Amino acid sequence: MAVAARVLTIPELDSEPGLLHGFSTLVIGNVARALGIDAETLTVLGAVHGATVVRVDEPRDVIQGVDGLVTDRRGVSMFATFADCFPIVLWDPEKRCAALVHAGWRGTVAGVARAAVRAMAAEYGSKPSQIRAGIGPGICGRCYEVGDEVASRFESRFVTNGQGDRFLLDLAAANRAQLNEAGVEDVHVLGLCTKETSFLPSHRRSPDGSRFGAIVALR
Ligand SMILES: [Zn+2]
Repeated sequence: MAVAARVLTIPELDSEPGLLHGFSTLVIGNVARALGIDAETLTVLGAVHGATVVRVDEPRDVIQGVDGLVTDRRGVSMFATFADCFPIVLWDPEKRCAALVHAGWRGTVAGVARAAVRAMAAEYGSKPSQIRAGIGPGICGRCYEVGDEVASRFESRFVTNGQGDRFLLDLAAANRAQLNEAGVEDVHVLGLCTKETSFLPSHRRSPDGSRFGAIVALR
């Protein structure tokens, strides 16, 4: 189907036989339909920019107040929406479990990606070294302008000087490092910037409330 080919994916995770994942664009609003996923299987992550990760055993409509979901069940499709924050996909082909993480600057400082790795270890016995990770579209380190109050929360290697008293923050790099430090070596960054990509919604480019969707499910 032509439309399905236009779902963005992390190329390195595409060939995983047990994992289904994708990111919608403005062109395809409905990523579930494009991936052939039944909308009734969706469990929506009601993000709050924290580091709480919850295990999902059956479709639950919406889970409020969490920034990470983990599952090892087929028939559970984890879903979240984004407009500059990063979706992170985690997949353990050994234990056959997956996570979807919502990481903005607050969640990154709170350690949400690390928390998802720990949740996969605690719930399913995943070894971090066996987890494969993909960091999806998000605002890049050349575009994500922040003030000192945000920049100062990050290690200096993720921050460069911007205009005047502003700084530029590389959230993808910070999350890659966080995953590496949690023992996940196999991390792939898609490298598609929401602000610079016309077919992806960006809060910074046009704060009109539009968002793209990310889905992670077992198959
Ligand atoms: Zn950019």
